Amino acid sequence: MTFGKFELDAVDTCLFGLDGGAMFGVVPKTLWSKAYHQGDEFNRIPLSARPLLIRFDERTILIDTGNGTKFNDKFAQIYNIDRDNSSIEKALERFDITYNDITDVILTHLHFDHAGGATTFRNGKLVPTFPNARYYVQKSHLKWAIHPSDKDKASFIRDDYEPLYAEGMLETLEDTGELYPGISLHTVFGHTNSMQLVKISDGRQSLLYCADLSPTHAHINIPFVMGYDNNPLLTIEEKKRIFAQAYEEKWILVFEHDAFIQASKIVATEKGFAAGESVEITKY
Ligand SMILES: [Zn+2]
Repeated sequence: MTFGKFELDAVDTCLFGLDGGAMFGVVPKTLWSKAYHQGDEFNRIPLSARPLLIRFDERTILIDTGNGTKFNDKFAQIYNIDRDNSSIEKALERFDITYNDITDVILTHLHFDHAGGATTFRNGKLVPTFPNARYYVQKSHLKWAIHPSDKDKASFIRDDYEPLYAEGMLETLEDTGELYPGISLHTVFGHTNSMQLVKISDGRQSLLYCADLSPTHAHINIPFVMGYDNNPLLTIEEKKRIFAQAYEEKWILVFEHDAFIQASKIVATEKGFAAGESVEITKY
């Protein structure tokens, strides 16, 4: 979709699966199964790994990189990752973009389903996937990734980010605000320490890449918070604050993990906020 001066695309890499109970925290299955999906025989729900591509002027920016391809068979089985389609490079082909074309990679955070595609094996060597890009992450998040909580340490894999700083390609940000005119970063702390959300504004309208603040449209519902979150009460506060503004200002919210809906606005119902009509960023 064209959004002001920006050309935006949803880069669907592959579907994978996470435990539905873990994805919806304290919400009983009778509710989340109706709101999203009933789960497979292992109770896993289908999730997308959906980076966002932003093109304007000379920049070709990627937000997040999906699961990548570095994992072994056991890992692929646990998370039900569709190996043949998990490569971000392959997903970019439909937009006629090669790994050399990417100028910037904004990593919302370093959990493997977001940063897995940031590095890759090329000719047997582990390297940054996008050799001409600057990669961005919050400095305090990188610290957290290196010394994570026991709760989220299974989500961090050193091979996803170590080559980036070893090659001097990782820019660690100590503040938020505009990265480029119209593209701003906003930190939240409930899911993990210093996850950065990306807001794109064309002067009239805004679009928010929600990362794991609202991984699917069903998570617009305020108490639908992931069991994975380090600080669920903080997530609830952050959702209340951000979604109230998103509702008032009619933002489009992009859902990184929603297997069914790429994006939507927020509507207010008698039960609280919910996802409105779906917005298609890229036709598949
Ligand atoms: Zn995460």
